[in-house]
Amino acid sequence: MCRTAPLIIGGGPAGAAAAVNLARAGLKPLLIERNIETSDALCGGFLSWTTIRRLRELGVDPLALGARPVETLALFSGHSSATARLPALAAALSRRTLDAALLTCASAAGARVERGVSARALEQGRVRLGDGGEIAASCLILATGKHELRGAVRPHPSGDTALGLRWRLRGSATLARLTSGRIELHLFRGGYAGLVMQEDGSANLCLAVRRSRFSEAEGRPEQLLAALAEESPALAIRLAGAIVSPAQAIANVPYGWRAQAGDPDLYRVGDQAGVIPSLAGEGIAVAILSGQAAADAIARGEPAGNFQRTFSRRLWGPITPAHLLWRAAEIPATASLLVGAVAIAPSLASLAARLTRV
Ligand SMILES: Cc1cc2nc3c(=O)[nH]c(=O)nc-3n(C[C@H](O)[C@H](O)[C@H](O)COP(=O)(O)OP(=O)(O)OC[C@H]3O[C@@H](n4cnc5c(N)ncnc54)[C@H](O)[C@@H]3O)c2cc1C
Repeated sequence: MCRTAPLIIGGGPAGAAAAVNLARAGLKPLLIERNIETSDALCGGFLSWTTIRRLRELGVDPLALGARPVETLALFSGHSSATARLPALAAALSRRTLDAALLTCASAAGARVERGVSARALEQGRVRLGDGGEIAASCLILATGKHELRGAVRPHPSGDTALGLRWRLRGSATLARLTSGRIELHLFRGGYAGLVMQEDGSANLCLAVRRSRFSEAEGRPEQLLAALAEESPALAIRLAGAIVSPAQAIANVPYGWRAQAGDPDLYRVGDQAGVIPSLAGEGIAVAILSGQAAADAIARGEPAGNFQRTFSRRLWGPITPAHLLWRAAEIPATASLLVGAVAIAPSLASLAARLTRV
């Protein structure tokens, strides 16, 4: 039961979606976001058709924000490639634009949004803030995404873990022509790179890569890109002179993890509820759906444990095939088979895209 206004920690898609639905239910949530200005989160910026639908439910139309329509998936592995039409219209939008629009939507719905406020730890139901202050909330939504909060840390993945890297690329005429209307997935040993044009004319290049592969490049993002360009002529053409930003990085991405029932008053949403492999391009949809579902559960008085169990079961469906595809895509032999199969039967890509939606 919520005895105080719900507190949401984190203003990404999950936190913002929870804030919108809670505010619409009359519960006047407080959302705290550590960044004062919205910047580009480490993300591929691909919005699937389910993401677009969920965004519209919240009152945010990505196409009206300038998102580029995406109709085709292009797959590359070494020297082979294949294309397939997506089952429905998708889009690409920078996270800077998307996250800012979502927080504006949350404020307009009646949520209190406080920026520049960072949670440092969760201690016996109290949230300790970065400035030394404290908030006691009977009902807490954890939406810190890829970042851990002391006192509510997700299990650390073991073995050869995945890390995420992201660059903004200069949008040349060549890049725009090659990638127009497409999301490109370049598969390589130990990972993949997603490439898509954004609304501002730049391109977003986002990688998920095994730590062992990153270590081969001496832990240097640009060295890794140079090695990948040597392996893939298509990637080399796209990267020639295009890098404009330093790399953003995040370590130990717990792909496949799902939260089970835990603390009775803690609702985990977004990446804190479950992490679908990013190759599927469905993380933002999971974030929005979980934020909406947690808000609805709170409005109904449903305990956090029930919500978490139900949501975890719901995630099993798309996470399982996404995990299998990710594992197959990072091994060159199976990646070539995947690309070859899509070249012969493009409908297979469409089927995989459908199976990995939430
Ligand atoms: C390599 C890679 C590529 C991806 N590509 C795509 C893609 O193309 N399409 C897609 O749909 N998904 C993609 N994803 C997944 C997607 O980025 C996430 O699933 C999604 O961002 C999760 O949203 P969220 O709101 O849970 O977290 P986030 O987007 O991470 O937002 C969390 C927010 O909380 C704030 N915060 C964190 N800690 C605190 C704190 N202590 N106090 C206050 N505020 C805090 C942060 O500043 C941030 O604003 C990708 C993921 C990776 C790793």
